[in-house]
Amino acid sequence: MSYDNNNIFAKILRGEIPCIKVYEDEQTLAFMDIMPQADGHTLVIPKEAAETIHDLSDEGAANLIKKVKMVAAAVKKGLSADGITLFQLNGEQAGQTVPHIHFHILPGSYLTAKAHSSVSAEHARLEAMAEKIRSGF
Ligand code: 5GP
Repeated sequence: MSYDNNNIFAKILRGEIPCIKVYEDEQTLAFMDIMPQADGHTLVIPKEAAETIHDLSDEGAANLIKKVKMVAAAVKKGLSADGITLFQLNGEQAGQTVPHIHFHILPGSYLTAKAHSSVSAEHARLEAMAEKIRSGF
């Protein structure tokens, strides 16, 4: 599958559109989901251009899961969450809406969360959650 350089996360990585960052390093970026399914819903993306897990290099996949583990720990600690759900969708049929691989970190349960990609949150509320998550590192 050819990678679409104009997808929204590619634009975020190039700094062309803003995001509320909680973590960044050479290979990875983590930021708040603008339509959170629960307070603190965070996305972790590799900087490698890959649409799905099937397109990501083995090294990229290994690094990504390490960073997901680290950011999930910060979400758990910063928000005092008892439970954390991780999910990751590959392909439209699976419900993927942004064609750049990403993991979702969702405080609490997917079963009681809001619908996927449905309601935008206020910037101030996202920033308040991000501040708590940053304090969890
Ligand atoms: P997917 O459906 O591809 O697994 O998830 C894409 C996620 O990206 C959704 O949860 C959606 O709310 C989020 N999203 C879509 N557009 C933007 C955006 O412009 N900025 C941020 N921060 N999140 C976005």
